[in-house]
Amino acid sequence: MVSAPLIANFWKMFGDERATKFVLALHQRSRIQGRLQFWQESMLEEFYRNTETAPLDFKTVLSTFNICPVHQAELLEDTVSIEYGTRKALKPAEIDRANNTYPFASTVKYGPCWVEAKTTATVFYCPACRDALRNERA
Ligand SMILES: [Zn+2]
Repeated sequence: MVSAPLIANFWKMFGDERATKFVLALHQRSRIQGRLQFWQESMLEEFYRNTETAPLDFKTVLSTFNICPVHQAELLEDTVSIEYGTRKALKPAEIDRANNTYPFASTVKYGPCWVEAKTTATVFYCPACRDALRNERA
């Protein structure tokens, strides 16, 4: 569940760039690894200290920050197809653009270059990100 006052305080304390970086890493690397990075823990500790917030466990951090940092919209679950195979690596500028414009379009899940039996995966997406991506491709 998204806690709007907590999110607003977090943004106020760290600013758009750092707060966005925190949330993107949370839903990408941290979700896969099942834990926070050291720098994320440091940010949270500073936040707890300054706002007198009781520390949250990892699962609660995930659900509390279940938002798209670009659109401030709650992330929803969807089932998408998995695309296997070798892909052209994205250029840093393309990754930046996606992270700044539609970080949670999540229209497809990329699998490894070999093909596995599984054809679909659960992803988290932001409806506004999907709109932004659709508009760009239209
Ligand atoms: Zn979004």
